[in-house]
Amino acid sequence: MPPESSPPPTLRNILLLEKRRGYDDRAVVGGLTAFIAKISDTAWFEPTLIAAIQAYAHQPAAERQRTVESLLRALDEPRAPTPPQSAPATKAPTPPPSKPAQKPAAARSTVPKITGRLQAGAPVATMPGVGATRAKRLADMGIETVGDLRFHLPNRYVAYPPPQPAASLGFQHLASYEGIVRRVETNPMPGKRFRITAILGDSTGTVAAVWIRHGGPPAGIQQGMRLAVSGPLVSYGRQVYFENPEYEPADRPPLNTRRTVPVYPLTQGISQSLIRSLVGQALSGLPPIEDWLPGPLLRQEGLMARDEALREMHEPADDASLDRARLRLAFDELLPLQLLVLQKRMAYQATQGTAIEVPWGLLAEFRQRLPFALTGGQQRALSAILEDIAQPRPMVRLLQGEVGSGKTIVAAMALLSAIANGGQAALVAPTEILAEQHLQTITGLYDRIHDTLESTLGRRPNIALLSGALSRSARERTIASIGQGEIDLVVGTHAVIESDVEFPQLQLAVVDEQHRFGVNQRVAVRQKGGNPHLLVMTATPIPRTLALSLYGDLDVSIIDELPPGRQPVHTEMLRPIVRGRAYQHIREEVAAGRQAFVICPLVEESRTTEARSAVAEYERLQHDELAGLRLALLHGRMRPAEKDAVMRAFSDHETDVLIATSVVEVGIDVPNATVMVIEGAERFGLAQLHQFRGRVGRGSAPSACYLIAGSEAPDSLERLDVVAHSGNGLDLAEEDLRIRGPGEFYGLRQSGFPPLRVARLTDLELLQRVRAVAAGMLEHDPRLEWPEHAALGEAVARFGRNAGDAN
Ligand code: ADP
Ligand code: MG
Repeated sequence: MPPESSPPPTLRNILLLEKRRGYDDRAVVGGLTAFIAKISDTAWFEPTLIAAIQAYAHQPAAERQRTVESLLRALDEPRAPTPPQSAPATKAPTPPPSKPAQKPAAARSTVPKITGRLQAGAPVATMPGVGATRAKRLADMGIETVGDLRFHLPNRYVAYPPPQPAASLGFQHLASYEGIVRRVETNPMPGKRFRITAILGDSTGTVAAVWIRHGGPPAGIQQGMRLAVSGPLVSYGRQVYFENPEYEPADRPPLNTRRTVPVYPLTQGISQSLIRSLVGQALSGLPPIEDWLPGPLLRQEGLMARDEALREMHEPADDASLDRARLRLAFDELLPLQLLVLQKRMAYQATQGTAIEVPWGLLAEFRQRLPFALTGGQQRALSAILEDIAQPRPMVRLLQGEVGSGKTIVAAMALLSAIANGGQAALVAPTEILAEQHLQTITGLYDRIHDTLESTLGRRPNIALLSGALSRSARERTIASIGQGEIDLVVGTHAVIESDVEFPQLQLAVVDEQHRFGVNQRVAVRQKGGNPHLLVMTATPIPRTLALSLYGDLDVSIIDELPPGRQPVHTEMLRPIVRGRAYQHIREEVAAGRQAFVICPLVEESRTTEARSAVAEYERLQHDELAGLRLALLHGRMRPAEKDAVMRAFSDHETDVLIATSVVEVGIDVPNATVMVIEGAERFGLAQLHQFRGRVGRGSAPSACYLIAGSEAPDSLERLDVVAHSGNGLDLAEEDLRIRGPGEFYGLRQSGFPPLRVARLTDLELLQRVRAVAAGMLEHDPRLEWPEHAALGEAVARFGRNAGDAN
């Protein structure tokens, strides 16, 4: 491909023909846009002109005329960077020299303009009009190279209509206009601002354009020039004027006015117009971006080419093709993610684990001796788990079930299977207190079948607690017996997976409350030797789409029902002015021997400020609404031992009301707690509110949850109302994801996944489609080594390094 080419001679003829035909876009078969795209490199046109060409098919006749004229002018322009030897402007077309052109030294300097082919990897600072300062600002937005500009996608588009004469400007919302600048007035306003009024006119009348600005008149607006403006029309009496319109010289091809313009995210010191011009230059000056999807796949999936999709995003031809462009780019965002998680899954499952022989008789007896029957959800989850652990291929399963859905029993039965099989098992909880609660629960459960269990094992099972609370010597003793294989089941905190603990026989590890449990720990558990089966449990409802992405390497079981007889938590939204009712209810319940939680508002700035506000709330309540009750305080700035002590005291009913920041979300099981008050409730996600609410209603007594709105904004009240009326955590999580995006709550950001700019994580259908494509690719080429997968494979590898061990 020649580095540069000059206008082909036929183009002029076609343009002239097009003019004669009255701009019907039929001078050439397939239309002007396609023809120009085909003939050669179009880098010698201004980006704006290329934009106009690309839109030609959809332009009204008046605009087509302007485009053709601009094109003819551009062909004629001696200052265009065509070879010096090329045909003089006004002559009939002569063949251009075939020699590749050097850019002339005197390329136009007034307008930033490409003067040759650009390179995607070149720093943006090499572009005309971009100095060190602007380059730095652009880098802040993630634009470091010329190629990056292509990926700076618009947030939205504004469809400016074609210009109209002054007399016909009516009361439409958006309009465009071209006229001579008759006069410019500058009037000072308060706050060092100015009101600039330009009076523009044509043969039919005049119209004003008004800008409020900090500086003087907008640069480049001079009396006597022809100016184009596009923007909102505002009526003032019977007059209309343009308010803060976009503008540019009317004789230039439209960049900021008179067309559908992209609206880009900006940063200080970078104007919309600059970005549009830079992106336009990048699009026209860069060679097409290579597609990383093989052609047959594109056709099979009906996807737009990557390069075309990127161009469409910046210069959409119409809504339909914009949709197709979005689809293609969304595909590209999701595909590496799916390839990565599926590769990880394949890698782990290729390893050899232990097939556990499920002790059906023992499990049946265990079930018989429970005081209740398992729910359908529990049974389904249990069957899936038992089927998995009976395979030599290590299980990697996520068990999702609301607070109180009875995950512990399911885990206990899986753990029992590993123990009866002669192996070791571990149960890991996020806090000391939860680990202790689990130990008690499990010991109690196994006691119910101790005779059968002992005869199966030939001895009593050894169950040990391993937590940071142990004395050093006790800890060392426990670790030593684990290493000797003497301990059958270890229940504990992170301490269990610290590196000095070795299990000779670990067959199953269960990690509870995965959501608060770092990803690295999850990986560490897997590496605890012997490729144990892994079950992670979470009470966080994870929308299916997120589960497929974040936990895409895991199989998922969902317990979607609560044990029968649970009383739903009465949930009520209260305006701040009547919060007294909630505190009155707390006093009544405490008087009846019950306990309560108060959750303090979320403070975004830092844990320190959050802690401070919790302390303030604690003190206020102590002297005010809850004076005389035994209050306790819990926040994220406390040391783990302090937190545990507070939770323990509350759990032992030494305190009545626990005033806490969102740390309380980490499971604490106090069935005696019957009231929860959530202050500043609108600041929390819906799913999180639901999680909080799950901390009450765990006993047999009726419970209540009060959501106190800190703001009267209608949409926050509406959101709270949704929580008050829905008891389904998954629905709320889906709703949350739709309203707020994945954000911090799901740890997506920390996980190192790049932000999704086009794909919506709520689009389950697309995600499943992408996953199927990824699975299909890996089936034949598991390591993405085929030449046609090479580019994608590289992207996945890069992605994997950034994402760390997110999965
Ligand atoms: P979570 O899923 O939040 O961990 P738990 O396992 O702690 O839930 O169970 C909550 C309570 O429900 C426990 O007291 C447990 O004994 C009880 N439970 C579990 N399964 C059932 C069932 N099928 N029927 C009745 N109660 C059950
Ligand atoms: Mg639990």
